Amino acid sequence: MKLTTIPIEGIPYDRLKIDKIPLSDQYIERDPQLVPAANRAVVINPCRTCMPLGAMFATLGVHRGIPFVQGAQGCTTYVRYTFCRIFKEPAAIATASFHEDAAVFGGMKNFVEGIRNLVVRYWPGLIGVVTTCSSEIIGDDMVSFIKMARQKLVKELGEEKAAQVKIVLINTPSFAGSHVVGYDRASKAFIETLVHQKTKPNNKINIIPGMLNPGDIREIKHLLEVMGVESIILFDISDVFDAPLRPPQKIPYYPKGGTRIEEIEDMANSLGTIALCPHEGGLGAQYLERKSGVRAIIGPPPIGVRNTDLFLQHVSELTGKSMPEELLDERGRLLDFMADTFHHTMMKKVAIFGDPDIVVGVTRFACELGMDPVAVLSGTPSKTFTGDIEEIAAEYNCSPKIFNGSDLFEFEEYLKKINVDLIIGNCKGIDIARELEVPLIRVGLMVWDRVGYQKRPVVGYRGGEFLLAEIANAILDYKYPDDRTQQL
Ligand code: SF4
Repeated sequence: MKLTTIPIEGIPYDRLKIDKIPLSDQYIERDPQLVPAANRAVVINPCRTCMPLGAMFATLGVHRGIPFVQGAQGCTTYVRYTFCRIFKEPAAIATASFHEDAAVFGGMKNFVEGIRNLVVRYWPGLIGVVTTCSSEIIGDDMVSFIKMARQKLVKELGEEKAAQVKIVLINTPSFAGSHVVGYDRASKAFIETLVHQKTKPNNKINIIPGMLNPGDIREIKHLLEVMGVESIILFDISDVFDAPLRPPQKIPYYPKGGTRIEEIEDMANSLGTIALCPHEGGLGAQYLERKSGVRAIIGPPPIGVRNTDLFLQHVSELTGKSMPEELLDERGRLLDFMADTFHHTMMKKVAIFGDPDIVVGVTRFACELGMDPVAVLSGTPSKTFTGDIEEIAAEYNCSPKIFNGSDLFEFEEYLKKINVDLIIGNCKGIDIARELEVPLIRVGLMVWDRVGYQKRPVVGYRGGEFLLAEIANAILDYKYPDDRTQQL
């Protein structure tokens, strides 16, 4: 019965109709022509987001850094909303607020006025100018606009005060790539604009972590601290997106965290740069190597045993420091935990999706746990993703179906045709997991349906323990037949 009005006494249970999500046995087969993303002009259930988001994430990782978005309000609001959903923290992002006039006549007026207002009201240490689809399409000459905005600041505030605000331009036309590319481009733009010439060695190493969570950055710092190594982390979002609440706070509010501008300026004096995620920071590390001769080591993200070993080997190579007992114990604890739980994880068929570097790292870890990756997807197209997965597959004798730059619609359609025990990915996979009636283990940046996930690491040996506990507990919680939890 269709209810048009709600009776004053309420709705009795027998008149309530709850629509049930159709499960696999009621599934209607899709037109096979439209399943491959490559055959379609539209993306369905995308596993990537907008390029400016990556550049804004990076800018917020600089102390007193504020992104200024040269575009419409929606390009800013959507990102702020996403950060607030994930981290439950405020994200200060300014916008040029494009309307029809800016789209027709160009965004110069909005930009120059906007930068002036931002500086006068907020006094940021750095502004990351982030372009968008609209400003790139109309051809805003951002280099000239920045010069004009600087002239206005000098006129109003004087040379000295105006020079205190650094401005970095990051070109992020979203039609040319995803958030992953936005972060990568930001890593190069910051190094190109801010890093000074080589002077005196600082005995530090540069780390470009990629779009990892605050808990991951803290774990990287822990590993380096135990190794006795000083570092410059570009971009350190740990005490920005997981900032302590310590009132009273001043207005304008800036979290205490973030990489200091002086640290970025000093990066050419470091012993080397490790970009943990090749697609998110590799560009910056390579640029610094070309520009200043600072050795670049690109990836892999330290997820699981072998990749964490590699990371620490790289640190050791750059600094000459050896791995201390404390880290050998952490490694041993992860191995012990793997031995304790292998009868739950062995031979489980797992599907993994997300950003390319995280997926490659998690796929290797899943293989280390004896799992069988049956399908892997990177939402961002990558030149190296397929080769990286094939290398892992050859090493562990498995043959996952590889989706490179595809969407979750194609991924889901494939999973419906095969047997899968669990899915590892971000919370964009909730409906797929429900439909397939398997657990979803949440990993990656886009996790907004759980609290505290951004605080726990998945990198390092301790991160491996956390992730393994989640995988094993999800298997134990789930209603598998006994022969699939107590392994064969
Ligand atoms: S895709 Fe383009 S228009 Fe849409 S929010 Fe991103 S930058 Fe703005």
